[in-house]
Amino acid sequence: MAKKRQERTLVIIKPDALNRGLAGEIIHRFERKGLKIVGIKMIQLDDIILAEHYAHLVDQPFFPRIAKFMSEWPVIVMALEGLEAVNSVRLLTGETLGRHADAGTIRGDYSMSVQANIVHASDSIENARKELARFFKPEELFDWNCLDSQAIYAEGEGEEDDDE
Ligand code: UDP
Ligand code: MG
Repeated sequence: MAKKRQERTLVIIKPDALNRGLAGEIIHRFERKGLKIVGIKMIQLDDIILAEHYAHLVDQPFFPRIAKFMSEWPVIVMALEGLEAVNSVRLLTGETLGRHADAGTIRGDYSMSVQANIVHASDSIENARKELARFFKPEELFDWNCLDSQAIYAEGEGEEDDDE
């Protein structure tokens, strides 16, 4: 019986998605799921922020290739909010290697690659918090009341202890 609360998570729409004209499609998928966009902008990443963001991969031989790919074109960064949003967005994203990702996931439907896999999504609540702070200033994140939320969730959902 865990209390489920609204979470925020970071998505990056990667250069392969932009180059293939898929940005709108990806944003649409998250919106249709019921995730609320609380921040969105286009930015160009540099080696410094990429070394921080991909700190767990910095020592890998393929890191320079990822850094080049992620910094050569702009990306779209997005903050999404919802109940258990971190896990929900990872499920929608699918596994890292696109050609092995489940059909129906974003990577499963649009990617054949390990590197060009359309989106980044935070992998834990703690990392989501760090990544949102890395890419957004506080004033770029919005608290807004989505009129649809009453249709997306049951009354009181996320406020009580759920019996799951
Ligand atoms: N990546 C890669 N080759 C690898 C592993 C990762 O090019 O062998 C890239 C890929 O774009 C991936 C990103 O590095 O999305 C971050 O890797 P991670 O293991 O964190 O996967 P993710 O959390 O994105 O599924
Ligand atoms: Mg990761």
